[in-house]
Amino acid sequence: MIPFKISDFLSVRRVLHWRRLLWKSQFFPPDQLEQLQWELVSAILDNCFADVPYYREKWRLLGLSRSDFRSLADLSRLPLIPKSDIIDGMESFKSDRIERYRPKSIRTAGTTGSPMQVYWDLDSNILELTCNWRHYSWFGYRLGTPFLDIRNFRRHLEDTWAWNWKCRGLETSSLFWDESNIGECRDMLKQRRIRMWRGHPTALGHLCRLFQNAGIDDVRPDIVVSVAETLPKHERRFIEDWTGRPVGDSYGLIEHTALICQCPAGGYHIAPEYGIVEILRDDGTPAGPGEEGRIVATGLHNRAFPLIRYDTGDFAVASGESCPCGRTLPIVKALRGRVVDRILDAGGNWVSGVHGLFKYYDGIRTSQVVQFEAGALDVYLVPARNFDDGLRALVVSDIRRELGEDMTIRTHIVNEVPFPSANKFKFVVNRIGKSAAA
Ligand SMILES: [Zn+2]
Repeated sequence: MIPFKISDFLSVRRVLHWRRLLWKSQFFPPDQLEQLQWELVSAILDNCFADVPYYREKWRLLGLSRSDFRSLADLSRLPLIPKSDIIDGMESFKSDRIERYRPKSIRTAGTTGSPMQVYWDLDSNILELTCNWRHYSWFGYRLGTPFLDIRNFRRHLEDTWAWNWKCRGLETSSLFWDESNIGECRDMLKQRRIRMWRGHPTALGHLCRLFQNAGIDDVRPDIVVSVAETLPKHERRFIEDWTGRPVGDSYGLIEHTALICQCPAGGYHIAPEYGIVEILRDDGTPAGPGEEGRIVATGLHNRAFPLIRYDTGDFAVASGESCPCGRTLPIVKALRGRVVDRILDAGGNWVSGVHGLFKYYDGIRTSQVVQFEAGALDVYLVPARNFDDGLRALVVSDIRRELGEDMTIRTHIVNEVPFPSANKFKFVVNRIGKSAAA
């Protein structure tokens, strides 16, 4: 997570402009939203053709010039950008005039373990701030509401807590909390009058579980927002049961190209003012309603490091419907998460986030799930000292609950997982080819 600094947003005029516009544009008719997108992407295209080496060269080789682009539909003429192009040629995505956009350099390892560097500029930071502000406001958040930000890592923290007075955020990690000290966590939430929780779904679930087990129920949040990871169904059910509130799930990227925010009615709304989101089939045509496709995203604000038709590596299910909440922001039917940790469930849906289940099994030293065929899963368990058949049965029933009762689950007790890795361990190894999935 990136530390919040006021200097990254320091243009009150721009923040107020977007604060006003976004609260109105969420009810714009589709043609007005498209007009707004076209105005924004036009400026980015000007910038790419003139100042950004990657596009200048690549598009010239394709025989494209600025005048070939007169509407949003013309964007489909542009090739997709694979992540590998950014990893290999980061410098070529930087605008020649990058300094005037007050860039902030951001490094990320991502899910593939490949380090990548991107830049955020002032406008893209402002949209990140105001679009998230709008999302939280759907659940009752007002600027200044104290919130908890809980992650499932602790590398950004020097101590158990950090209080960021600038955004009134109380930052911590789920790794610090267990049965022995959960009372201290409660006291801190009371003292800071925390009303909203935001964080990794597994971290939010961990905290709810500890409070539930300890019988502490006077710190339940009014607002819960899940970020940065796929929210597994079992985790959502548990958090919503314990808090009595709907979880507002979200999807964003460190590349600042796409933002999708779930509303209290359950709709996953694309923020079209933030970025253009396309859901595409493998052949590059748009996925139809109910069909799964890759998320391809075009950021509408970052002129320091523009990404046009960026292939995110994530998947979503397209929707042709509108949301009962009344907002006109387009929706996707579901987020499918990263392809790297996906399992094909008994119903034929790709599911990710299953690793979250395994966090709570004492008695297993390490584990790996391998899928060789649709409808079945091989689970390799390296037992710890207190492993028994009861735990083995629990693992099977928990996975079935997540993936469907018809799923065949085979457990294997082993001394070592079948696909160890020297670099980045993969919990899910999927050996199903795309043809088998289809
Ligand atoms: Zn909605």
